[in-house]
Amino acid sequence: MEMKFRMRFRVGGSGLEVEDEAESTTEFFKKVTFYHSLPETCGNCGKGRIVFDHRIAQGYQFYEIKCRDCNHVLRFGQYKEDAELFAKSWVEKPSQEAPGVLHESVRGFGPR
Ligand SMILES: [Zn+2]
Repeated sequence: MEMKFRMRFRVGGSGLEVEDEAESTTEFFKKVTFYHSLPETCGNCGKGRIVFDHRIAQGYQFYEIKCRDCNHVLRFGQYKEDAELFAKSWVEKPSQEAPGVLHESVRGFGPR
């Protein structure tokens, strides 16, 4: 069985339309569950100024949706089996993750 499906949803100010395929009903459930987990507004303050954010820090990849109003992020984890993403929960973004501070802590372990 192969099924094609199309979904429309909104993440912050972005209207998104996805066309996707699933080879089985289980794959269909996994994919739709993921799309449904994408929030329309911030899970903390309820405002709509949220954006997708991908960055690499110290060799790790971060997949997040972040709120421009309250500095909270929705983090995504990755399944071991197929490396697909899943939504975790909204957390306040720790200030030590700011790039400048990150460099400070890295320097602390350096040869100097
Ligand atoms: Zn917020």
